[in-house]
Amino acid sequence: MPAPDTPLLQAHEVGVRFAVRGGLWRRPQFVRAVQQVSFELAAGETLAIVGESGSGKTTLARALMGLVPLHEGHFVFDGQRIAADQPAAWRDLRRQVQMVFQDPFGSLDPRWNVHDLIAEPLRLQGVSPGPALTDRVHELLRQVGLAPESASRYPHQFSGGQRQRIAIARALAPRPRVIVADEPLSALDVSIQSQVMNLLRELQRAHGLSYLLISHDFAAVHHLADRIAVMYLGRVVETASVGALFSQPAHPYTAALLASVPRVGRGKRQPGQSLAGEVPSPISPPSGCAFHPRCPAAQDRCRHEAPLVRAVPGEAHRQVACHFPRVTLPVVAQDRAAVGAPT
Ligand code: SF4
Repeated sequence: MPAPDTPLLQAHEVGVRFAVRGGLWRRPQFVRAVQQVSFELAAGETLAIVGESGSGKTTLARALMGLVPLHEGHFVFDGQRIAADQPAAWRDLRRQVQMVFQDPFGSLDPRWNVHDLIAEPLRLQGVSPGPALTDRVHELLRQVGLAPESASRYPHQFSGGQRQRIAIARALAPRPRVIVADEPLSALDVSIQSQVMNLLRELQRAHGLSYLLISHDFAAVHHLADRIAVMYLGRVVETASVGALFSQPAHPYTAALLASVPRVGRGKRQPGQSLAGEVPSPISPPSGCAFHPRCPAAQDRCRHEAPLVRAVPGEAHRQVACHFPRVTLPVVAQDRAAVGAPT
């Protein structure tokens, strides 16, 4: 597993906000969909971003693709800073970072055949129509396990799993270094999911790709990811290696998410424990720690004071944002003040 010591991609305090109507005479209100999110992704690494609907994980992915504007913060890709006011840097990033969407039918234009779908990003790069372009399309089809003869067919002539393979071939066409995969398995039958997961792993090994995997499917995350960042109401609340996070979740939200996953025991499927309460509205988030209305470990301090993101000692690249995590954190000045100790 590569360590993110020399990250290929970094997010620094990234934020995205959307204006919502405030009524005829009212000022517009803003929803902070992503707030102060930082992460690192090494070459050849898979970082999964998990969380419930409304956690901001898809908005974060869309911000990286330049599909929604950054309100604050910036990315760094291969040493180059990419911020909202640097359109040339975004153009370069768009070739290096490609996206695979959840719905392989909706993401492929049904009027185009497979050759044209895969050739389009190559043409945008300046590859002229001709034998070289056709050879590259056939090579990409082989890489994703489809016959070159598939090139003349249309998306509706393929199964869901095959369509996702076409979408992956299209994403690979510009030779990206990072693929953002937004729930790439959730529209597929369970029997097909493992085939596509294996394909993603093979392609990663063959091309040294980095994946940013957006998912709420812990089985897929466990199979594919090296590290996980857990998001709640627009913020990252815990980051850890897959092993550490699954064996000892530090944040109460992570623990609740894992407990909600159904398990198979003694040949029977055991339902998970559903998470208490609903995700609050991001228009008026709770005070203090945004998770406090749902948190079984909440104390008074949680209602007034937002926890900072802090490193977990002895665990490389592990961070948690909680006043009372399920692991030991070093005591800092603000903790002493909270318990009335001299600082
Ligand atoms: Fe729960 Fe408090 Fe930690 Fe928030 S800060 S997750 S409310 S214990």
